[in-house]
Amino acid sequence: MLKTVKGPFSALSFPCLVWLACVLATVWFSAWPAQAQNQPVRVIAFGAHPDDCDLDAGGLAAKYAAHGDKVKFVSLTNGDAGHQTQHGEELAKRRRAEAEEAGRRIGIEYEVLDNHDGKLMPTLEVREQVIREIRQWNADIVIAPRPNDYHPDHRYTGVLVQDASYLVIVPSLVPDAPPLRKNPVFLYYSDRFKLPQPFRPDIVVSIDDVIEKKIDMLDAHVSQFYEWLPWTMGRLEQVPKDPVERKKRLMGWMSSETRNVKGPWRAALEKRYGAQADSIKYAEAFEITEYGAQPNEEEIRRLVPFFPAAAPRP
Ligand SMILES: [Zn+2]
Repeated sequence: MLKTVKGPFSALSFPCLVWLACVLATVWFSAWPAQAQNQPVRVIAFGAHPDDCDLDAGGLAAKYAAHGDKVKFVSLTNGDAGHQTQHGEELAKRRRAEAEEAGRRIGIEYEVLDNHDGKLMPTLEVREQVIREIRQWNADIVIAPRPNDYHPDHRYTGVLVQDASYLVIVPSLVPDAPPLRKNPVFLYYSDRFKLPQPFRPDIVVSIDDVIEKKIDMLDAHVSQFYEWLPWTMGRLEQVPKDPVERKKRLMGWMSSETRNVKGPWRAALEKRYGAQADSIKYAEAFEITEYGAQPNEEEIRRLVPFFPAAAPRP
């Protein structure tokens, strides 16, 4: 005699229930990739100072935000050494407010940690801060500088994120933040350093549609782009007082991106934009690190959903 069950399915025989379970499982698992594709991409970017992420990934972040994805910028230091006349707590407070305003302008979160500017070291304490940030953001993508750079804070930010890249999935460490079940993709920002090897532009994204938003974001860092950086270059007197005029000047800073688009990033742009690469003026480039998940082309296009559809193979 066939077994029957009690409750709402009591009229069904056991084989019927097995069949029903199989159908439901098939429907559930076939729907799974579609669900995963509709999930917002979660990106966390680390910089040493409260404007580093903005310069290298502000355009990409603005694109993700407009697309409904989630981005957080984290500055590992509070920037309290980055000014010619202001210092310490007063400057840290000002720079935190500037960073928060920059994040607000493009619709992302911005956190400034309280480590001192110019004194960042790859300690266990800061490594654990980085692990906690990546886990709490449940990141799909983590972006950081390469660990070779002229500035020790930038260099150690690269080291710290590199050191966290495997440990984010290890449950015994940083037990107050649940470990990730899946290793994120770790990317490097672009840079100009040649040794021990030059930056490799694996993913280059056009930011022509958000260049104004990126400028708007940089414009929030008044202490940096209109005071400190011009001062370090001996050009403080040349900064216009008029807010509209000085914002226009920031656009000039983007000229290096324009040069890269025509030069070393061109092949990577052509790979994903085809003939459209000709008209791209501004872009941001990233290198896929050897640590963390290694995405194939399909995964890259899911995580960076800004490229034209792939041309069908002949
Ligand atoms: Zn910096």
